[in-house]
Formats: sequence, structure tokens, C-alpha cells
Amino acid sequence: MTASAPRSRDAHLVATAAGGHVFVVDGSRLFDAAADLFGRFDTAMSEGRIGEVLERLGLGGAPWIDDVPLTAPPLHALSLAVAQKCNLGCTYCYAQQGEFGGAAKNMAGERAHQAVDLLVDGADPGARLTLAFLGGEPLVNRSVLQTATRRAAERAAARGVTVNFAITTNGTLLTEADASFFEEFGFAVTISLDGPRDTHDAQRPYKGGKGSFDRIMANVAPLLSRQRRMQVSARVTVTPANLDLRLTLDEFVDAGFHSVGFSPMLASPTGKGEMQAGDLEVMLGEMIDCGREFERRWRAGDRYPFANMVNAMREIQRGTHRPYPCGAGAGYLGVSADGDLAACHRFVGDADGAMGSLDAGIDAARRSAWLAGRHVHTQEPCRNCWARYMCGGGCHHEVISRGRPACDYIRGWLHYCLEAYLRLSPTGLDEGRRTTAEVA
Ligand code: SF4
Ligand code: SF4
Repeated sequence: MTASAPRSRDAHLVATAAGGHVFVVDGSRLFDAAADLFGRFDTAMSEGRIGEVLERLGLGGAPWIDDVPLTAPPLHALSLAVAQKCNLGCTYCYAQQGEFGGAAKNMAGERAHQAVDLLVDGADPGARLTLAFLGGEPLVNRSVLQTATRRAAERAAARGVTVNFAITTNGTLLTEADASFFEEFGFAVTISLDGPRDTHDAQRPYKGGKGSFDRIMANVAPLLSRQRRMQVSARVTVTPANLDLRLTLDEFVDAGFHSVGFSPMLASPTGKGEMQAGDLEVMLGEMIDCGREFERRWRAGDRYPFANMVNAMREIQRGTHRPYPCGAGAGYLGVSADGDLAACHRFVGDADGAMGSLDAGIDAARRSAWLAGRHVHTQEPCRNCWARYMCGGGCHHEVISRGRPACDYIRGWLHYCLEAYLRLSPTGLDEGRRTTAEVA
């Protein structure tokens, strides 16, 4: 983690076998640097003068991202907690076994339709929207999920907007008919799976304690074989008990998932399953091991759908720079079964992320205050971190409940991704990368 440690808020240095490179934080710009220039950057960084050097090279100027909070953008994504109840008893569940700390409940059809109308009727023609179904376990309330989907598709067609559909499910209730429905509407289906059978079953048992893995894999088989419009991905929540990521990735890639992604468990209601510093260090090594396999397969022209890596390569190529980690409380809101609006699906039932209700409308004052208070320039130690515009300051929900225990992991992963991107770019990821000499 030494190479990824924070030295300057303005730049970060990356050395690969091909030479030296500088990542200019402002604008997330990546440049090659000849050996002498790389040495000057290194010295200037040690002396706290890197800003001056960048300025002289014409890489300074007005900041790409200022301190002005985002003006609330048009709503483009809603997630509906159609069922605040669940049939599993996962050890670390943020929704507290699906019920978000309250009584188990389903969303009524009229509520779901009200949410669909909020999303679709307010959209500009040509907009691309996302309607997501989460829980609890959303398939507990299948009929409302289906009527809301149909209503959204019909109203979107009438208004000339596009709606993409997504569901995150534990997979235990999936049927062949669900496969047909998700294929018809082109759903992005995410299945929560925490590893091979024994590992998964220890973390994601039924409420009675029985393992759920065999049932899920049997249920998911018809979906995996029918992926045309629909895409079926596996999402792995990483705890200290399932750190063998490469084994998990290969098992799910071989099973035919469209992609496989990993997220560390950083904040659970009971603290159970939370990753500590040593676990995150192990996880980083495993992620890099998976990344190296991705690099090897990329060179061989083979598909290896390691979602974290694919997303990172895409974001580095685009030069993604943003003052927030996600769209929560901005263009994205969550809706509770009772129709309350929240900053995202994880803030359902949580006063910290309350954003109004379907009946009263979006609370514009709370949304503005959220966007002002969550801007990465207002966060410590983010405002001086080289990774701030790629990381955005970390998941708001995790930060509010536990702080920022994973910064070394985040920077270590991003540093590796920059290196990998530089290694892969001569093979076609980015032929347009410039040198600092060209810029100067
Ligand atoms: S949360 Fe992200 S931006 Fe903030 S200090 Fe940690 S790594 Fe840097
Ligand atoms: S706040 Fe966290 S859980 Fe919510 S959308 Fe953002 S990253 Fe996801």
C-alpha cells in the first residue's frame, strides 16, 4: 500500500514497466512522464511543490470541480422497496432481515404506481430512466413488481422516454416465469451470492438456518441460459469469512453470470461481518489477484467479467471525476413500502437520508442540504486525498454509520487499476493517452 499512500492532493505518481506516469487529480487526467520529468514530479511532491510544477506545465488552472454543491438534477432513478420482508436471515443484513428495523410489510400496488408516475411523468422526452426493485426480498411481492414494471413501460413509451429495469434478489424465489418476465423487459438481475456453497450458506442461510445456495443455483439456471435482453450478475458481499475472491469469481464466471462484483461489508447494523483493516488488506491482495487474471485474459482476447475491474477501466478511460460517490439524494432516490422517499435504498427507514414522501413530494430543502453537506470538498480527510474524484468520498450510508475505515483499501485498488490501465492501454484500451511533453 506504500505506492498508493497519499502524498499530494494535486497528483499521484504511478510507475509501470513502461515508465513513469502522473495522475492529475483535477479532471482525473493521466499522462506519461519521461524519466527526468517523473523525477522532478517526485521531488516536487516530497517538497510540497507539485501544484507549481503542474501549473508550469499548463496542467493547473481553475479547478474542474468547485465547491458549489450540485443543483438537484432531474430524477432519473428510483428503487422501490416493494417488500420490506425477507425469507433469509443473512448475518450482516443492512435491512435487518429485510424489515429495516420496523414491521414486515409489502408495498401496495397504488404506492408503486405513484412512484412510477413520479419517475416517468416528470422526465424530459428522450430521458433514460432506471426503475429498480429491492427489498427485503422483492420477489415476496411479485405481483406489485410486475404491475409497476408494466405501468412504467407503457407510460415511458407514451412519453418517449426509456426505462431500464433492475432487480436485486436473493434468488431463492425465482421461477421460470420470472425468467420470461425479466427477459421480456430486459432486466438487469443481480443475485446476491457470497461464494461457493459452504461459504455462501454460512453467511446467507434461510431464517431457520438451512443453506440457500443449492436452491438459488437451481433457480438461477434458466435465467443464465436465457440472457439476451436480460443480464444476470452475481454480487458478493465480502466479510472476513469469504475472502477467497478468486475462487468465487471463477466459480461464478464459469456458471455463466454476465458479471461478478465484490463489495466489502463496511457497516452492518450489529457490527457482525464488518471488515477490519487486516481483512481489507487481504481483500486488496485478492482483488489484485483477480485483476491480474483479468489482464491476462484481456491480452489473450478472452472474456473475464470481473465487474469491479471492468468498471474501473471504463471510468479511468472516461476520466471520471465527480464530487459524490453515487447519485444518492441527487438523481436517485429510494422509496419505502409506505411511500417515504430516502436518499437511496439503504436509507429507507433512516431519518439521516429522509427526502420527503410520494404524497408530499420530494423535500427540496433536505435534498439541497444533503448535496451541500455530502460534497467531497466538505469531507475529511477526502478533501486532500488524491483519489477523491474517483472515489467521491465513499458510500454515504457506510460513512454516516461507521466513518471511513477502508481508505487504504480504496486507494490501493485504484492505484492498481491505474497501473493495469496503463499496462493494457497499448493493447487498445486507450490509444489517445497523452504525454506531459505534448501538453507542455
Ligand atoms: S473516502 Fe475515498 S476520497 Fe475519502 S479519503 Fe477515503 S479514499 Fe480518499
Ligand atoms: S449511498 Fe451507498 S448504498 Fe446508497 S447508492 Fe450510494 S453507494 Fe449505494
